[in-house]
Amino acid sequence: MSDSHCPADTVADGLFLHTDEASTRQYRHALESVAEVVTDSTRASDTVYSGADPAAVRASFDEVDCLPLEGSGLDEALETVRETVLSDAVRMSHPWYLAHLNCAPMVPAVAADTLVSTLNQSHAAWDLGPSVDVLEEAFVAEFADLLGLPDSAAGVFTSGGTQANFTALLLARGWYADEYLDTDVQTDGLPAEASAFRLLRSEIGHPTADEAAAKMGLGESATVTVPVDEAHRMDAAALAETVERLVAEGQRPFAVTATAGTTDYGSIDPLAEIADVADEYDLWFHVDAAYGGALAVSDRHREKLAGIERADSVAVDFHKFLFQPASCGIFLLREEDNYRYLGHEAAYLNPGRDSVPHRTEKSVQWTRRADVLKPFVTFQTVGREGMAALVDAVIELANRVDDLVAEDPAFDLISASEISTTVFRYCPQETPETVSHGVWADEINDAIRDAALADGRTLLARTQADGRTYLKFTLLNPCTSLDDVAAVLDLIREFGREIESDLSAGDIR
Ligand SMILES: *Cc1c(COP(=O)(O)O)cnc(C)c1O
Repeated sequence: MSDSHCPADTVADGLFLHTDEASTRQYRHALESVAEVVTDSTRASDTVYSGADPAAVRASFDEVDCLPLEGSGLDEALETVRETVLSDAVRMSHPWYLAHLNCAPMVPAVAADTLVSTLNQSHAAWDLGPSVDVLEEAFVAEFADLLGLPDSAAGVFTSGGTQANFTALLLARGWYADEYLDTDVQTDGLPAEASAFRLLRSEIGHPTADEAAAKMGLGESATVTVPVDEAHRMDAAALAETVERLVAEGQRPFAVTATAGTTDYGSIDPLAEIADVADEYDLWFHVDAAYGGALAVSDRHREKLAGIERADSVAVDFHKFLFQPASCGIFLLREEDNYRYLGHEAAYLNPGRDSVPHRTEKSVQWTRRADVLKPFVTFQTVGREGMAALVDAVIELANRVDDLVAEDPAFDLISASEISTTVFRYCPQETPETVSHGVWADEINDAIRDAALADGRTLLARTQADGRTYLKFTLLNPCTSLDDVAAVLDLIREFGREIESDLSAGDIR
């Protein structure tokens, strides 16, 4: 690179990073400006959310021209971001954000994300990022090892659990058609027998399995659900019975997805028992550990994943319980060789005769960010011990939150958390005579969640269990204390009381 400015001097100057001093100064200024606007806005308000409703959020963009003819410079652009995006953003790092499976991102990972963008390497071909290709390979291998997978394992970073689950089932389908029907689905498409292909998940397993079935041309009805026990874990005996029944009906069950950390309860299916069933009936055994895979870093909790080492494939989201900014997940495959059901060759990117390795054939995505840099920098910074301490602390907090909720007569705890979720509901003090208690409680708990969203001091989630409405905390922030959660419970009780006094039986639909 020459030390001169861009030839297109007037337009490009300062907009690209060069070796010259002016451009490096502008790059640093840009990053500092972003940091400033983010930290200012973090300090300017103490709430999780502004409470703005959809109309108000839309209104704040009314005057904004997304494709202005003339630019106004970065400082001005960031000012617009402050007034529109930041003012109504959800503060994921706020200790009172307790809603979904989205975490407070760790600062080393956020810094590494800047590295990812600046270097702009891609895993699409060797000559788009050789060092990150090798790093990804090494990182994935070490993580596979932590889960107890054999040396034959391989994998890639993904956009998250959705993509990892899809990849798993796609490979499972390719394997089954090859093994049992001598069909190459990639080349020849689905065989006639595919209308009988079935994949299994528990009744509370993630719906991405059904989506995957639809995208693979099998249809959502190819997914068959298996009941769970009282602890919200897949019933392995029922799995075996379901497989027997399907086979007797002439169907072709080919894969089972077990969940390590269900979205609502954090429950972990009995992986070893499911592995036995998968062995017996020759099913592809996939483990959706999007949430629970994080336990692998903890010497205290890793045992809960026992059986995962027998999986044919595993999905783990680092952007959930490993505190990385999205997107950051991994897909692991027990036998690297099974990637053959995915590979494609393109003359310009990865011709077969090429002398260098390519990773496109390991992903359903072509251009792919070097997301590995985020957990790499994070683990280098705090060590696996440091990460384990964070995971352990959040689990410990969740246990204490369960106790807090269980002891409080204002609330009903539906189940103790296996990882870091608490599902509960506010108990109305009195139920009007004309309404059933369940319906009345549903109505009030629904309204509590809406009230919290409109208030903004805390965000919590809402879910359904046994046809009833429940509230849910998902704890994913090591900076949240028991006092924080106690204060949020006080707030929920307050909302509940208010709603109860404002609502009358006539308001119920
Ligand atoms: C979050 C989640 C998914 C979906 O993952 P994304 O990262 O949102 O694509 C799949 N399965 C489980 C169990 C999850 O918790």
